[in-house]
Order: sequence, then structure tokens, then C-alpha cells
Amino acid sequence: MITVLSGGTGTPKLLQGLKEIVDPTDLAIIVNTLENDYFSGVYVSADIDTVLYTMADMINEEFWYGVNGDTFITHERLEEIGCPELLRIGDIDRATKIQKTQLMVKYGLAKAVEIQAEKMGITSKIIPMSEEHSDIKIITDIGELEFHDFLIKHQAQPDVLDIKFSKVSPAVGVVESIINSDAVIIGPSNPITSILPILSLDGVKDALKDTYVVAVSPIIGSDSVSGPASKFMKALDIEVSSVGVASLYETFLDNIVIDDKDYDKKQQLNQIVNKVTITNTIMNSLDAKKNLAQIIIDSIP
Ligand code: GDP
Repeated sequence: MITVLSGGTGTPKLLQGLKEIVDPTDLAIIVNTLENDYFSGVYVSADIDTVLYTMADMINEEFWYGVNGDTFITHERLEEIGCPELLRIGDIDRATKIQKTQLMVKYGLAKAVEIQAEKMGITSKIIPMSEEHSDIKIITDIGELEFHDFLIKHQAQPDVLDIKFSKVSPAVGVVESIINSDAVIIGPSNPITSILPILSLDGVKDALKDTYVVAVSPIIGSDSVSGPASKFMKALDIEVSSVGVASLYETFLDNIVIDDKDYDKKQQLNQIVNKVTITNTIMNSLDAKKNLAQIIIDSIP
């Protein structure tokens, strides 16, 4: 069994490759819930839904958010009647979110996701990192912003001075999944807002110390492939490079996978982590995703 730690863009790309080369029933995916909140009357768990849609081959790969080919009739009508939405939610995507909101009242988030995954024909286990609400604030030069306000309303433009998030408890199955795995893959997700929230759950770092951990760097050279990861790393005084990423995971990391373009970082990385794997980590085709997934699987002892 392999456990993957995931956000909602970089790691889902890797999951598309992994599910082609590993029996999906041997995969467990622990997903960030830091940014989850209610919008337009429904519970939005963007990273979880992206992982669900990815594993069900429904994901909109242009945005890594929502369903491929979705329509926006409800979204447009809400605007017409004076109820504009901060998040643009498609009609099919909204059905997922309505169902999750209803299931959560009865069963909680983890069980709701389990039921939805089963309905979508997904055989991998998808585990939200927590059942609890996280409070995240992006401290910027224009003031303290909610995560989605920073990302969508302000297009991630303000200078970031700090990031604060509340501590929550791990959902049932998070620590157990890591302990029972042959290896854990930390996907190329935002280290600050997707991976650190999972690592800060009680018991997770200790469990990772006892498991083989391989991480893929989301930073190539001195920038992220997409999104605000580099801005967030800078705000927390972490070097924006694969070395900075490795230093965040140093206490439990066994192997870091970096891009060919970063071969000159190997020596420096070897002082932090036992094994450095160098390959193409840009996942711009299914072949590239499968190749990267295969290299990761082959590196697990
Ligand atoms: P979010 O939840 O939407 O922020 O998405 P994630 O945290 O899962 O992923 C965001 C990170 O994915 C960014 O830091 C990107 O640098 C990284 N990323 C996206 N595509 C790729 C890729 O093809 N290769 C690598 N190495 N990183 C990627």
C-alpha cells in the first residue's frame, strides 16, 4: 500500500500517472482540507473534489478545479439575480458539493467523501486530513485576507508577509494509513498551504519517520511550476528551491525527486536527504505523468 499526500493541482497530475501503473486499490490519498469552507450555501472542499474528479477521470485539466465540460447555468443565474459567487461553481460540480454538504450533516466529511468516491467508481481510499474547520489567514501588505479572497479576488497579487493557520486534529485513518504503508509519496503540491497542514497534524511526522518517504519538488529552479508556492515560501523565509522544499521535510525524508534542470543542486541536497532522484518532473502529458510515477515507484526499496 502507498499513501500519497495531496493538494489540488501538482499531486493530482501525478495521481493520473500513478493510477495507471499501481493497482488503485493499493493507493490511499490524504488530502489537504485547509481551504475548505462554505460558499453559496454549499461546502467547498476544492482539493478533495479535485482528487475525486481526477481519480474518476472527470477533472477539468485546464484549471485543476471542477468537472471537464461542465456547464454554468446556475452560476450565471445567481449573478443575474444579484447573488454573484466568489467561486465559479459548475452545475455538475455543484451537485457533488450539494451531496457532500448533505452527507456531512449525517456522517461527517470523511464518510461523505468515502460515499462519494464509491459512487464515482473510485477504488482508492481518499482521506480528508481533518474533519475540523481550519482557519487560514494570509497576512499581506494590504491587510489580513481569507485564503480565497487572496487567491481569487486579489489574484494572489498582494505581497505576502505571513501565513497563519489553526491547528486541527487528524481525521480517523490519516496516521493509520501512513503507518500501514510501504511508502509515502509527498506529491509536488504547495509545501506551505497543501503539505504543511497535513504535516502539522498530531502523529503525522512521527509516523512518517517510521515509513519510507519520497517527495517530489514542486519548485524547479527558483520558482513554482504554477500558483503562489514561491510567494508563500518567501514569506516564511524558506529558500525557494528544491533545497528549501527538502529542508521542510528533512526530519523524515528519504528521497527527493527533483527536475533535470536542478541537477546542480544534487550535492547540496545530499547533505539533507539520503537519496536524490533526478528526472523530468514537468507533467505536461500522460506519458510524462506515468514516467514520473514509475520512477518514484521504482525508487521505493
Ligand atoms: P493547490 O491545492 O491548487 O494549491 O495545488 P497543489 O498544492 O496540489 O499544487 C500546487 C503546486 O503544484 C505548485 O507549487 C506547482 O509548482 C506544482 N506543480 C504543478 N504542476 C507541476 C508539475 O508538472 N511538476 C511539478 N514538479 N510541480 C508541479
